[in-house]
This record gives sequence, C-alpha cells and structure tokens, in this order.
Amino acid sequence: MIFVFVLIGYLMAAAIALATFIMGIYVRNAPKSFYFTYVILAILIYIVGFIFEILADSQQEAMAATMVQYCGGPFVSPFMFFFVCEYCGVRLRRLHYALLLLIPALTCLLLWTYPFNGIYYNSLEFSLLSPVPHFDLDGSFFYYLFIGYAALLPIAAIGVLLRFFRRRDRVFKIQAVTIILATILPVLSTAFNRFVVARLGFDTTPLFLSVSCLLLGYSMLQLGLYRIAPIAREKIIETMSDGFVLLDMQGSFIDANSEAKRLLPRLAFTSVGMKLDEVEDLAWLSAPNNTAGKEFNFTESDGAVKHYRVSETEISHADRPICRCLMIYDVTDTRQVLDEVSSLAERDTLTGLMNRGAFNRKAKPLFDSVARSGDDACLLMLDLDCFKNINDLYGHLKGDEVLKGIAVLLSSRFRATDLVTRYGGEEFCVFLPNISEDNALDIARELRLRAAKQDFVADGEIFHSTISIGLAVYDFKRHHHLEALLADADTALYAAKNKGRNTIYVARIADGSGGMPEDTWITLECAL
Ligand code: GH3
Ligand code: MG
Ligand code: MG
Repeated sequence: MIFVFVLIGYLMAAAIALATFIMGIYVRNAPKSFYFTYVILAILIYIVGFIFEILADSQQEAMAATMVQYCGGPFVSPFMFFFVCEYCGVRLRRLHYALLLLIPALTCLLLWTYPFNGIYYNSLEFSLLSPVPHFDLDGSFFYYLFIGYAALLPIAAIGVLLRFFRRRDRVFKIQAVTIILATILPVLSTAFNRFVVARLGFDTTPLFLSVSCLLLGYSMLQLGLYRIAPIAREKIIETMSDGFVLLDMQGSFIDANSEAKRLLPRLAFTSVGMKLDEVEDLAWLSAPNNTAGKEFNFTESDGAVKHYRVSETEISHADRPICRCLMIYDVTDTRQVLDEVSSLAERDTLTGLMNRGAFNRKAKPLFDSVARSGDDACLLMLDLDCFKNINDLYGHLKGDEVLKGIAVLLSSRFRATDLVTRYGGEEFCVFLPNISEDNALDIARELRLRAAKQDFVADGEIFHSTISIGLAVYDFKRHHHLEALLADADTALYAAKNKGRNTIYVARIADGSGGMPEDTWITLECAL
C-alpha cells in the first residue's frame, strides 16, 4: 500500500517536473531564463531515476536506476546557483562555471564507476524487503563531500539573493522569497531523509524537488513577464519608424527591420552572413563610422525627398564587442532647419546675394584651386555711384530698391560657379574663375551699360543709377593670396571713381614686370 502511494507521489513529482520543464523550454528565449531549464531538467532526470529505483527487482537494476539519478541529481545545486546568479545579474567567469560543475561531474563519474573504484560507498545494499525498495548505504568520504557540496551551493545561492534583497523593489523581493524557498527545499529534504525517512522507509527527495519545481515554475511564470520583454523588444524594433541593421564585427549582415529594408531595398535580398562591403549599393553602410559618408536621400512614394542619417553603436557582451548596430534616422526636419540657418547665415537679407563672410569662406578654396591649376581668373569690384545722393533724394527705401535691382542684374549675368557677393553697403564683388580678361571685360561693360539704362521710379519721376567697376586680372606671380587680387580690384575701382564714375578700370600685370618694383607691377587702364 505504501509502495503504491510512494509510486503515485513520485509519478506526480515527475509529471510536475516535466510540465515545468516544458514551460521552461517555452520561456527559453526570455532573459534570465537560460539556467532555469537546466535546473528543471536535472530535477526531472533525478526523479525519473528514483521511479526506476523503486521499481527495480534486483541490485543491478537499482544500480542502473541510481546511475540515471546521478545524471541529474548532482547538477541541481550548481544549476540552481547559476540560475540565481543570472537572475540577480551577478556575472560568473567561465572558470567559475567549469569549477562548480567539476565536483558534480566527478561525483557522477565515481558513482558510474562504482563498485569498480570502490571509494564512493563503504557498503551498498539494495533492500527489497521494506515496503518501498531502497538502498541501505554507508557513504564514503567522497559521498559526504558531495552531500556537503550539494548543501553548500544552495546556501551560497540564498546568500546571493539576500545580498540584493534590500536594495531591490517589492516584486524582486516576492520572487526572491519564492526562489529561496525553492532552493532551500532540496537541502531540507536531505535533512528530512536523514532523520525522518529512516522511519518512513522511503526517500522524500523527489517530492520536495517537485515542490521546488512548482515554486520555480511559479516565479518563472511571474517573470514570464520576462517573456513579454523580448517579444516586445522584437516588435518595437520591427515596427519602429527608424531603420535598424545588425552586423557582426567583421561587417557581415545579421538582421534588418522592415524600415531598413524599405529604405535600402537591397537589404531584403542580402543573405545572413554576407559581407556588406561586397554587396552592391551597400558597401558604404558597413564602412567605418564617418557621419559625412553615412547620410543619404530617399524619395518617398509621394515624391517627397527625405534625408536619413546612419548612426552606429557597438554592442558588447562579456566585455567583448560582438556586433555593430546601425540605426537609420529620418533627419529631414533637422536638415531643413540647418540648411535654412546656414542659408540665412550666408545670404544678405536685402539682396539675397551671398554675404561677405560666405564669400571669404568660399572664395579662398576656389582661389587656391585656380592657383593650383594655373587657370585664368578675374575679380570684379562694383560700386554704385553717388548712392548717398539717391538715398538723400528719394529716401532709404528707394535706395534699397535700387540695391535690389542691381543685385538682380548681377545674379542674372553670372555663371553658377561665379561668386556674386554684396561685399559692403552699395559695393558688390564677383570672383570669376576660369575666365579670360576679354570675357570678363565684356561682362563688365555689359553690366555698366545695363545698370545705367535701368529705370527706377520715385515720386512719378524716372531716375537712373550708375556703377563704377574695377577689374583685376589674376596673375600667379603677383597674386599669392585672394587678398592681393581683391586689393588690385579695389585699386582699379578707385581709379574708375577718380576718373569720374560710371566707368571701368582694369588692373593687370605690366609687361616685363619682373625687373620693376612690386608696386609698379600693375597697370591701370580705362576700359569703357
Ligand atoms: P561714391 O560714388 O564715391 O561711391 O559715392 P557714394 O555716395 O556711393 O558712397 P558713400 O560711401 O559716400 O555712400 C554710400 C552710401 O550707401 C551711404 C549709405 O547710407 C548707403 N547705404 C549703404 N548700405 C545701404 C543700404 O542697405 N540701403 C540703403 N538705402 N543705403 C545704403
Ligand atoms: Mg558708392
Ligand atoms: Mg562704396
């Protein structure tokens, strides 16, 4: 009768362990659940071994059943310890794992090689006479070493849980108490067996362990909140509006979300493991982080052009970088604002022409490239004549209108590569790379004439505004800097003003200038 009760009890314990194990597999991908399945599997194997043991008809059969038990039993404590460490976020080194698994592995080996080694038990007798068949054993030093080890590790695990207990929140505390109970039960069962079971005639360990399974399963289900986290994370990554691309440290493709595949359609046809720098159109994506190269435009189905930026983060595990995460952000708005701000900063608000600051920034590299290539270049300095009178006669607003009119005239005449600038109040400057003196002069003449003919109206009366122009012809021997060319154009403009205004003066290097003093190197010539 007792035998049937014990058998039913063991079978129920095995069923509980099996159910918990299946649940463990189900939550396997959840964070902190890695060792949970191992704990339960070890318990399950142990209980199954017990069932075989009480069903055994001979010492050999019982020994085989014990061998099965030892494939699981000794590993319950270390796996429980690993589970608790993982749960509390305590990092163990590989060496710790290896050392903590060594004793159970050796114990298992000693049992499997018993009785050949003769050192695990002093004596071992299978008793079929009692209501529940079991071993009467006399353990050796190694046997008790293992029992001590199996009792110490759960205590260490409880120590780890208690260390974090005070600092953590209420939910952690409830879970921790559940895990502590589950951890302490196998230890209690050992004591219980020692003092009570002798009288009962059977081993209660499987029953205690099944309660441990229930408690751990319960805490796991609660932490099954766990399971939601990775699913939610995956969903968030899949549905978020930013692109996400995962590469390994060698630049091989691992994963990308839908948005990344939409923006970079080639990703959808890239195999996992493919080196991205070997994929057409995508090599730039895996290139080392460099913000300038990691921006791109994308035309949406409605024709809107969006601007995207790629940012990169390295993900580390166990102090070692394991992969590169590329996030693709829509920076269209920021880009537009920046473009507007930089355009505002570069433009003159009245005329819309480039301002002097922007001219200085852009003209220098252009001048350098002219100097390097040895191309022709010219610089025009234009100034409105007697502009003060226009202001005085017709008012400042009319003066502004004249400035705008001249600006329109200038911008309509020059090429995109020319730098047309409002240099000062009523003074304009144009740098013309790759142009001959004759062509530049033609433009200057045309501008002077068109400006003089342009009608402005004030108080029903038509008036005109003329310009004086100074033209400097670039010469590599004289103009080592942009400033030197500007100075010559200014000198020519000054000469034009002196000549009576509404005229053009050209400053060019004098023939045979080599032998003359530097300030006589240029000749000024009226070129109307
Ligand atoms: P010159 O022929 O010698 O160049 O004589 P000018 O009167 O043109 O030169 P001057 O330097 O004596 O005066 C320039 C005037 O341009 C004075 C200033 O009030 C006016 N001015 C400068 N910027 C603006 C502006 O943005 N709007 C208006 N309306 N006037 C301006
Ligand atoms: Mg003037
Ligand atoms: Mg002036």
